[in-house]
Amino acid sequence: MSADHDLIVVGAGMLGAACADAATAEGLKVLIVEPGVVGGGSTAASMGHLVAVDGDPAELALAAYSERLWTDLRDLPGAEYSRCGTLWVANAADDLARVPAMRARFAAVGMSSEPVDTARLYELEPNLAPNLAGGLLVADEGIVYPPAVARALVQRACSRGAELQRARVAAIGDHGVTLEDGSRRLNGPVLVATGCALPRLLPELPIRPRKGHLVITERYPGTIRHQLVQIHYADSAHGDADSVAFNVQPRPTGQVLIGSSREFDATDTAVSLTMVRRMLACAFGFLPSLRGLNAIRVWAGLRPASVDGLPYIGAVPGRRGVWVAGGHEGLGICTAPGSARLLLDLFLGRTPAIDAAPYDPARVAAA
Ligand SMILES: Cc1cc2nc3c(=O)[nH]c(=O)nc-3n(C[C@H](O)[C@H](O)[C@H](O)COP(=O)(O)OP(=O)(O)OC[C@H]3O[C@@H](n4cnc5c(N)ncnc54)[C@H](O)[C@@H]3O)c2cc1C
Repeated sequence: MSADHDLIVVGAGMLGAACADAATAEGLKVLIVEPGVVGGGSTAASMGHLVAVDGDPAELALAAYSERLWTDLRDLPGAEYSRCGTLWVANAADDLARVPAMRARFAAVGMSSEPVDTARLYELEPNLAPNLAGGLLVADEGIVYPPAVARALVQRACSRGAELQRARVAAIGDHGVTLEDGSRRLNGPVLVATGCALPRLLPELPIRPRKGHLVITERYPGTIRHQLVQIHYADSAHGDADSVAFNVQPRPTGQVLIGSSREFDATDTAVSLTMVRRMLACAFGFLPSLRGLNAIRVWAGLRPASVDGLPYIGAVPGRRGVWVAGGHEGLGICTAPGSARLLLDLFLGRTPAIDAAPYDPARVAAA
């Protein structure tokens, strides 16, 4: 059976959009199938930080690789890229003891960082709470506006000949997809990038939705200059229990975006005031001046978490011509360009720039 498309991309969140963009850049004939707003899923709920977290070596490698590739995306229309840098904040001397090992892990993947003592900490961020110990500055990192990036990537793919089909995929076969209305949409290799809905089409790849809350303030330019993340952030991201961590951004509008919380097994995106209070109490501890600011919006979204904390990127075992890019939990915006490049390299039979084995879906979905 001849293929009508070189690649059918199912889902136009950050991952589907990045893969469609990368595939059309390779000259492939791409069909994108998305029933809702492009970038309207987890992508729209996210903070948009491009931050390499050093909790897991494979996650760090993918993030560092992706951050290099972000240089080609950050000028996309609406991306609102800001190179604010990441300041990892240590609140006690024993937290500061983590800095040399963090620096070494960052250096091993080609990232430069600067240790920050107490005096430099307050020079960089005068509004931080007194009595903090110091931290680590990763000056090259930044933030973007994720739904606009996804939209711009799909537009760029379409300008190179991709087609955007407004429909929901009901099932994946060996030769293409079946749409919800029962019609068979031509055929070709399929890439599933449906975020938290991944198991509906690929039950062999489980996803645990992980809820997260965010709060955004009115405009208070200059409150902070860097994105501020507590040095224990990776512990919150990788643990299983409900948690909050200090993670605050200066948006280009002058607003302050305050995160974040994590809860497994939530089934909806209703705002929990208990969790918001916990998250804000944590943020106020590091940045007391936040107490005086007006918040204008509070929301929650679901992060698509894989079973082992690493994304699924590659061919789905036991299925012919079916590929996947999903399960990126809280780093799917940051790691989208690297994931897309990796996926395309594997799809086209090339050797990727970083080791693809840790993300191979076969580790979870046996053939
Ligand atoms: C509160 C919060 C904060 C976050 N902060 C950050 C951050 O600062 N930095 C970062 O890197 N990451 C962050 N993330 C994580 C990031 O948002 C996700 O990892 C990323 O958006 C996942 O993208 P995706 O394309 O896999 O999924 P989604 O964006 O959910 O896209 C999936 C798409 O698939 C479509 N779809 C579903 N089913 C079907 C079907 N059957 N047929 C066709 N289409 C279908 C959906 O409509 C949707 O558009 C955050 C997440 C949350 C919730």
